[in-house]
Amino acid sequence: MFRIWFNIPLWQRVIAALILGVAVGMWWGPGAESIKWIGDFFIKSIKMLVVPLIFFSLVSGVAAIGDLRKLGAVGGRAMLIFVVTGQIAVWLGLFLGTVLAPGAGVDTSAIEMGAVPEPVPTTAVDMILSIVPESPVQVMADVSVLPLIVFSLLIGIGILMAADEGTPVQKVFDSGAVIMQKVTMVVMELTPFGVFALMAWVAGTLGLDALIALSKLVALNYLGCLLIIFVMYSAMIKFLARLPVRDFFRGIIDAMAVSYSTASSNATLPVTMRCAERNLGVSNSVASFVVSLGATINMNGTAMYLGLATLFGAQIFGVDLSWADYFLISILATLGAVGAAGIPGAGLIMMALVFGAVGVPLETIAFVAGVDRIMDMMRTTTNVSGDAAVATTVAVMTGEIDRREMISADDV
Ligand code: ASP
Repeated sequence: MFRIWFNIPLWQRVIAALILGVAVGMWWGPGAESIKWIGDFFIKSIKMLVVPLIFFSLVSGVAAIGDLRKLGAVGGRAMLIFVVTGQIAVWLGLFLGTVLAPGAGVDTSAIEMGAVPEPVPTTAVDMILSIVPESPVQVMADVSVLPLIVFSLLIGIGILMAADEGTPVQKVFDSGAVIMQKVTMVVMELTPFGVFALMAWVAGTLGLDALIALSKLVALNYLGCLLIIFVMYSAMIKFLARLPVRDFFRGIIDAMAVSYSTASSNATLPVTMRCAERNLGVSNSVASFVVSLGATINMNGTAMYLGLATLFGAQIFGVDLSWADYFLISILATLGAVGAAGIPGAGLIMMALVFGAVGVPLETIAFVAGVDRIMDMMRTTTNVSGDAAVATTVAVMTGEIDRREMISADDV
């Protein structure tokens, strides 16, 4: 029995669990909430890995790059791709929102009001200050990913600067990173059960009815995300990385399934890292560095959605937007996506930042809150696929990929 189970590749078990979860949720209805704890158990187990994994992998990854100049080459390329793809994503959202006008003719009275999240402090100065770790221990205890990344980068750079004297500590981090990968493999075996329970819960509690009023927005959110994944990322893999697109997607299927069901880039991080290294052949140093950084700041699904949702709000409430507003939205949506944490609903909170600046009523947030989860799942999948695509592309550009690993993605 056990043998049969473990002989089926993990990704096939995960996909089967996803489909079965939706079917069971539809049939069971709101009662499916009673098995949500299994999903929570899975998310908690995977979240447990985030801090030690980022800390060990990032420090070991930076140190493994070998010298500061090469670190700059990898980091610079990754940041450039993050910014360019982020801008394309926002403008795609603005284009879809303008041409297909999801907010036109929406009867707002039929929509159940969701809870309006507290606006976050989002001035530029606040954002800059929030990335400096006041206390590394506090940052780890709070799972504040951005300052943790800054701290880990600095330790890695310190090891590089210390040269020979840094070697013993570097070995500790290398060994810690390997141990964390093994622990991740163990926790990953929970994936089919977690995905099944989470999908049953979403399908059972939201149901299709709740989606009807906002179906156009939901459909456009899906369309935009699918275009980003299958057009933009495919083009990146085919033309920039010059690798087979099919193998790329086959290699990241676990990460896609986990991101879709958890709606959290952070919770998916260990899986994304493992897919990039094991299935795509990205070197440990580039995967640790780019994927950890990307999980927090590279969110193209969120950027696209912020653009789209702003137009949706403007259309429902009859707010006219000028070209200057469009440019403002494109900048703020990119910043919002960078600032959004990789957790469920983070994009929803960031709406306040964009809406306020262009005069779209914040009530729009309440309108979309009820169906946000279902859109969040798709944008998270987009965000996570983007992290893997950028890691792969940068790895190719800097000669940090083992192509044989990618070709043998059959046994994912
Ligand atoms: N949930 C998304 C993520 O973790 C962020 C968002 O809400 O858009 O990537």
